[in-house]
Amino acid sequence: MTKDDVLKIVLESPSLPTLPTVACKLISISSSEETGMRDIANLISKDTSLSAKVLKIANSAFYNFPCKISTIQQAALRIGTNVVRSLVLSISFFSIKAKNKKDVFNYERFWEQSLANAVAAKLIMSEIGKTDLEEIFISGLLQNIGEMIIAICFPQQYGQVLLEASRSEKDIIELEEQIIGADHTFIGYEVAKNWGFPTVLLTPIQYHHCPEGYKGNHKKLTLAVNVVYLSGILTNIIYSKKPLKYHQIFVNESKRMLGFNDKIIDKILALVATEIAQTASLFGFHIQNPRSIEEILQEASAALGNITLAFDQMNRNLVTDKAQLQKLTKDLEEKNKRLEKLSLVDGLTKVYNYRYLQSFLDKQINLATRKNSTLSLILADADYFKRINDNYGHLAGDFVLKELCKLMRKSLRDYDIIARYGGEEFAIVLVETTGQEALIVAEKLRKTIATHSFIYNKTKCNVTVSLGLAEIKPAVDAFTKNDLISFADKALFESKKKGRNRVTLYAQEKN
Ligand code: GH3
Ligand code: MG
Ligand code: MG
Repeated sequence: MTKDDVLKIVLESPSLPTLPTVACKLISISSSEETGMRDIANLISKDTSLSAKVLKIANSAFYNFPCKISTIQQAALRIGTNVVRSLVLSISFFSIKAKNKKDVFNYERFWEQSLANAVAAKLIMSEIGKTDLEEIFISGLLQNIGEMIIAICFPQQYGQVLLEASRSEKDIIELEEQIIGADHTFIGYEVAKNWGFPTVLLTPIQYHHCPEGYKGNHKKLTLAVNVVYLSGILTNIIYSKKPLKYHQIFVNESKRMLGFNDKIIDKILALVATEIAQTASLFGFHIQNPRSIEEILQEASAALGNITLAFDQMNRNLVTDKAQLQKLTKDLEEKNKRLEKLSLVDGLTKVYNYRYLQSFLDKQINLATRKNSTLSLILADADYFKRINDNYGHLAGDFVLKELCKLMRKSLRDYDIIARYGGEEFAIVLVETTGQEALIVAEKLRKTIATHSFIYNKTKCNVTVSLGLAEIKPAVDAFTKNDLISFADKALFESKKKGRNRVTLYAQEKN
């Protein structure tokens, strides 16, 4: 919908409120000094219930006159014609209430906030030293009249506007345009024009959200627009959910637009809440526990502080969680590695186990096939090991096995592997090594072991090993891994047979 479509619907809507007669006439009578007090008093006196309300206020403790005021004329004389006029207008507008029960718009709250705007506008204007305080009061009061009209004519969409406003950063003007098609400054202005409002009221209604929009050079109107704009921001400190934000805007904008200094701003901020509460009670609105701006700002800062604290805490937790997670991942990786190793490594001697030997041989035979290289397998078996156990005990036997492995490991290249083949029998795979070369390694191993003194619990013993070896050049040899193992085993048997502590290469028998 275009904004003109929206306006058409509004103007034709049966729900559109009608202005009370006295307000209608009074609003078109200027508040200037020339306007006869008698004219205004006569007009008001015609509406008895309205007069009664005005007199009630004039006689309230707020004005604290020693004698009772019993006529509108007396009231005008005592408190000023303009004050009476603005009292009457306010009372008339406050009487605009729901026409039917289905209307969900909260008039009470709307007029209470409008009254706060009026008080704020008057307070700001009083710091500029202008006399037309009652006029700015009414301008402040009616600035958001468009909001009420939109809410009445488009209740559902307006509900949506309020909902969105509470959860998004967008301002109300933007949301009204987006959801309804026209904002409350446009609708308010057009409807008020239709009602016969004077320019002095219409202009602030039109520009109170965008004071720069007023391009005229009428000083009084420019001031009215600016003051009404600032009044809206000032009351937002009290009524919106973002008091700190509006406080900052109010400070900056009132300095920029009206040249206020910190002292004036502080004075306004200190007075506004109590003035609103006082004026509200004058009109029968009950503001429960009015809080000062200082209290509101303190609470908001504390809440912000709490949020920051909570955020900091959350961040700290995240950092520790992350560190813990990193540690856990590292532990897990290490455990996995250990677990992996455990399944590949012999528990006693820490050399590879039988399973790993088999897969390593498979891989190396494949690799040697591709590289056309030779690899050798040595089988080493401790001689008369049973005797070691028998003579020194099983634990000594274990110690010797471990020591044997350490000795052999030291004598090998990094890429050769050693594995426990059985009880006291070990397999050594020498990659890219011929039988002749392996023979030298085996001999070295044999000698190293034979000359080593094994000392367990201060008891010295000597151990020898018998070794058998075989080579394979998988690219040319027709035999398999199992054949290689059995050839090495045969060679080992030969070494045992020949008297132990010796090395036999199967290769010689191969041909
Ligand atoms: P040979 O020279 O013919 O190899 O004689 P041997 O005594 O070494 O051979 P045999 O097969 O008769 O005995 C092997 C012994 O090794 C028997 C067994 O108790 C011992 N043995 C096997 N594994 C372990 C072990 O893990 N720890 C200990 N302490 N002894 C072991
Ligand atoms: Mg507004
Ligand atoms: Mg043995």
